[in-house]
Amino acid sequence: MIEINKVHKSFGDLEVIKGVDLTVDKGEVVSIIGGSGSGKSTLLMCINGLEKIQSGSIRVDGTEVHDKGTDINKLRQKIGIVFQQWNAFPHLTVLENVMLAPRKVLGKSRAEAEEVAVNQLNHVGLGDKIKVFPGTLSGGQQQRMAIARALAMSPDYMLFDEATSALDPQLVGEVLDTVRMLADDGMTMVLVTHEIHFARDVSDRVAFFRNGLVHEIGTPDQVINNPQKPETIAFLKSVS
Ligand code: ADP
Ligand code: MG
Repeated sequence: MIEINKVHKSFGDLEVIKGVDLTVDKGEVVSIIGGSGSGKSTLLMCINGLEKIQSGSIRVDGTEVHDKGTDINKLRQKIGIVFQQWNAFPHLTVLENVMLAPRKVLGKSRAEAEEVAVNQLNHVGLGDKIKVFPGTLSGGQQQRMAIARALAMSPDYMLFDEATSALDPQLVGEVLDTVRMLADDGMTMVLVTHEIHFARDVSDRVAFFRNGLVHEIGTPDQVINNPQKPETIAFLKSVS
């Protein structure tokens, strides 16, 4: 599980995370919604140790991410992350791109890495694209490749940061379907998303972020269908 306790994070004088508490249980899907600049991306970066925190704690399976003694590279292997866009290596095929981390980071043999990569590419519906170069893929296919690449490391957790927001509207569905499939598989996930309907459908809980804090949290029915706080109501109105 992911346990976030009283986390504060600043960039210089600018405090962007102001005491966040959030627990994500094994198998749970938690969506984070909220306005631009509210600290959603920063929180994800803090969860996998890409950004330092000033105080508080973030534990993943009981290990403190921000302890000096923690092997952060090892911990990161179990946390896959998918961003708005991932720049694949253009001179490598889709398959080779997905094989890279299992080979370099996990030390798998070429054959082992290829097996894992082919399996994950099949899983995200790109089985017929393994031999092509990333530049020939649509935006939606590229995002599914990014998901396959993360899955090839056999993560226990997946973090998504607006994985569909750079896509043309007609390509969003295929990526959301892939995320939904992972949810059905029981993957533990934190989804930062603008897709409110999707968040409502796929999440166990939804957190509305505002001004560096979890402003309202609960089931999708509570937060999206029956928000209690005026700011949550206003935000949902603004995006609907
Ligand atoms: P969100 O993802 O909710 O839009 P972010 O986490 O990206 O918000 O940003 C929160 C705040 O932190 C914003 O004011 C942003 O400008 C600031 N910020 C984010 N990253 C950095 C950085 N590397 N250096 C300085 N300020 C940053
Ligand atoms: Mg962001």
